Amino acid sequence: MYRLTLMLFAVTLLAAPKSSRIDSEVRSITKSAILIDTHNDIPSFTVDGADIGNSPKTHTDVKRLREGGVGAVFFSVYVGANYVEGNHSANRELQMIDTVHSDILARYPREFKLALTAADVEKAHKQHRIAALLGLEGGHAIEDSPRLLRDYYRLGVRYMTLTHVNTNGWADSSGDIDDPSVAHHNGLTTSGKDIIREMNRLGMMVDISHVSDKTFYDALETSQAPLIASHSDCRAISNVPRNMTDEMIVALAKKGGVVQMSVNCSFVSQKSADAAKNSPLKDRYKQIRDQFKNDPAELQKAIAQLEDEEKQYEVRASLADVVANIDHVKQIAGVEAIGIGSDFDGITCTPTDLDDVSKFPNLTRALLEKGYTPAEIKKIYGGNTLRVMRQVERVSASLRTS
Ligand SMILES: [Zn+2]
Repeated sequence: MYRLTLMLFAVTLLAAPKSSRIDSEVRSITKSAILIDTHNDIPSFTVDGADIGNSPKTHTDVKRLREGGVGAVFFSVYVGANYVEGNHSANRELQMIDTVHSDILARYPREFKLALTAADVEKAHKQHRIAALLGLEGGHAIEDSPRLLRDYYRLGVRYMTLTHVNTNGWADSSGDIDDPSVAHHNGLTTSGKDIIREMNRLGMMVDISHVSDKTFYDALETSQAPLIASHSDCRAISNVPRNMTDEMIVALAKKGGVVQMSVNCSFVSQKSADAAKNSPLKDRYKQIRDQFKNDPAELQKAIAQLEDEEKQYEVRASLADVVANIDHVKQIAGVEAIGIGSDFDGITCTPTDLDDVSKFPNLTRALLEKGYTPAEIKKIYGGNTLRVMRQVERVSASLRTS
């Protein structure tokens, strides 16, 4: 009887016009896939009082996460490079971790559930709650100490982006690699490699978004577990240092890793990247950074103001650009190497039709129209990330007992 019902259902679907078939597939995927977004920066707003329960000015709030069918979010506990001056990085990191625990999890316990493992993510999904995970962005937050790394792990952090735009004491960043005034290490230092090994032992994912190419290859060689790029795209499509070359993507995929595709306009589209590069406001950023060197809070405000002003020079990317990046990774490395790491609320320019977290069903539709099967989309949306998380947990278990 069950089989007959299923057959009838399939026949009905095939008989339906293509657009309504896609409509129903979009609905079914939105409901059933565990969409894991590995990079969302709303904590940078909740830490200053934004309410994730209702936050129309940001890209993320509860209602829109639900509309978008988001099943799990790695909340970015990001520390800006400006906190390095005067050693405020750990202080800021602890504040960022606290905003996830206090302003997201404790404030909305019916909506969110803390997840520390892949199994936790699946459990939360079964309870119709959004799994909340923590991803640390900016390796300078450990202030060169594996002890702080272990503290952060205990507080729930499950990945660390080795650098932000700044080279730190043990890893080179792509953000300042051409700056001769910065002391570089040629990738990871010896203690940087020890930090990767400690992350493997703890069961914390190694995130190579933002790092220099040499740091990437050093991390790939050192890590016993697969790596992720929590929010990056393809350099073959948009030639910016933050994106990955085809060679890097293929090497990452060979070791079981996943590129979590960002929706940042200048990462997915060369036109957007060129517009950002040629913006007449570029020098003002440097000016502001110098002016508010010792006042991180004022600096953040001034940058936000400038970003508003910047909007007039922006060239927006499109949903099709995001799909093109996904498709490029599929062509060179296979569907198993693809995930989603939007960078919503960490970016000012979002693609048309992918404005915020509620718009993921548009991406689902675009992928279906491009010929992706529901099974492939489910891998991209969460299956591949869960696979990496499980492998990281297995490696950790074997290292802790050996
Ligand atoms: Zn970032």
